[in-house]
Amino acid sequence: MLKIITSPDPLLNQVSEPCQIGDKSLKKLAKQMERTMYATDGVGIAAPQVGVLKRLIVVDCGPEDERNPMHMVNPEILDTWGDPEEAEEGCLSCPGIQVVISRKPWARVKYYDLKGEEWVIESDGLLGRCLQHEIDHLDGKTLFESASPRERIRALKAYEEARRAGAKPGEVSIDHRGRA
Ligand SMILES: [Zn+2]
Repeated sequence: MLKIITSPDPLLNQVSEPCQIGDKSLKKLAKQMERTMYATDGVGIAAPQVGVLKRLIVVDCGPEDERNPMHMVNPEILDTWGDPEEAEEGCLSCPGIQVVISRKPWARVKYYDLKGEEWVIESDGLLGRCLQHEIDHLDGKTLFESASPRERIRALKAYEEARRAGAKPGEVSIDHRGRA
């Protein structure tokens, strides 16, 4: 399992570089990211979260008892649409908390697979949200930057407490929402 970089590491706020399409070394990194994601019960992971500033994400928002990871090279949001919806999001890089983020439900994303073939997918629901969350990481944005100013203050406070309590990546059980 790769080491997960957690907030407030400044690396998480850097913009990642595009990958070379068809780069063979991406396959190994993607597999390692995939294993790390499953080991921490994540539904998505972005390369900067494991310390690599490359535009590569792995997501699997399917049923829990099936593994269908998507490896997405240079994913790019072409469009988002629909009335913004609020939902709680967790993040492997911000263990111990969940943060309410408002996003448009639908996303259309272009990406390349590990063989270099180009794809465009459209999704709403968990996948639509997850894609936007992971691509935010490639642009140096974590949950704290994506939250509303009011929610950010609450979340930062909750995160301080979670860190003091020793929360580890994959833990989202601590919810301080009522207290902030
Ligand atoms: Zn995240």
